[in-house]
Amino acid sequence: MRPAQTRAERLLASLDRAGADVLLVTDLTGVRYLTGYTGSNGLALVGPHLRAFVTDFRYVEQAAEEVDPSYEQVVAPAPQELPEMLPALLPEDGIVRLGFDDVHLSVREHARLRDLLDDRTVLIPAGGITEGLRRVKEPAEVEAIAAATRVADQAFEAVLGRGIVGRTERELALALEIELRERGADAPSFETIVAAGAHGALPHARPRAVAVEPGDMVVFDWGARLRGYCSDCTRTVAAGSVSEEAREAYELVLRAQLAGLAAVRAGADGRQTDAVARELIAAAGHGEHFGHGLGHGVGLDIHEAPRLSPRSTDADRLLAGDVVTVEPGVYLPGKLGIRIEDLVVVREDGCQVLTGVPKELRIVD
Ligand code: ZN
Ligand code: ZN
Repeated sequence: MRPAQTRAERLLASLDRAGADVLLVTDLTGVRYLTGYTGSNGLALVGPHLRAFVTDFRYVEQAAEEVDPSYEQVVAPAPQELPEMLPALLPEDGIVRLGFDDVHLSVREHARLRDLLDDRTVLIPAGGITEGLRRVKEPAEVEAIAAATRVADQAFEAVLGRGIVGRTERELALALEIELRERGADAPSFETIVAAGAHGALPHARPRAVAVEPGDMVVFDWGARLRGYCSDCTRTVAAGSVSEEAREAYELVLRAQLAGLAAVRAGADGRQTDAVARELIAAAGHGEHFGHGLGHGVGLDIHEAPRLSPRSTDADRLLAGDVVTVEPGVYLPGKLGIRIEDLVVVREDGCQVLTGVPKELRIVD
């Protein structure tokens, strides 16, 4: 069976649990996962006896190439909006319980849907179904994420090899993105972070036109998108020799990261896995300096289920085949930030680290 067929089968099981007969998939990542379509306007309908994909004139040829043949392809005539095609596609008799994506659909879009459909169609909130299906990765998906990770690793080594002192954060971020694309990445998987010195204390810092100075700790957080799949990695590098405080903080984060990695395995609880790293950092007096979760799922989206954090729920318990990050940090306002992040595949007895960039403190001029 092709992936699109197995994925649709799995979807039908979740559909039943949500109390819907047919799922309307409007989130483009979900549409891509189910049908293979990578364009920017499209929706899918999936039910026991229904597989339909709707797009507009601009994507007809692309859809013909990409969309799995199990889907009937429908082109909305201009200037119609895609949902206008729904009444003709839904079953003609009886009540239809149509699941819609209440996570992504706007209130306005929902009202429009209600207007278009007759009283036989009951709208059932069914957000999160495709996200749930996407969580555990198929072997080919793991291979795509591993390939994106290799591209990202090589790009980083190329940039570090040319030195960092005297170059601005923006120059370094741009150099990293060029290296990613030259190695075949579709794009960076998110906005590259390069943050030197005190700026590194902002976990989601934007690169500035400020040069790296000797003595700075420099946080790099970057990733490649390859064949649609994301990679995610953070390394913190010393620009020349750094203070004793910086070294100690680095060693602490590294210990927490290794402890976090050691705790990752199928069946592990999201909160407890987070706590393994968090308690080490707290015991060293930096509890309040680690203000984000330990990790998140990565796939077609850069942030997806599950999450490893103090707010994880039972749904975040790790499953074999989850791809997650392990990324503790210590952020000292006005001084420095340190984060170390690897991307791993959860296995029954532990995890397989995809990231290949070394983690011992690197001193780069
Ligand atoms: Zn990251
Ligand atoms: Zn991350």
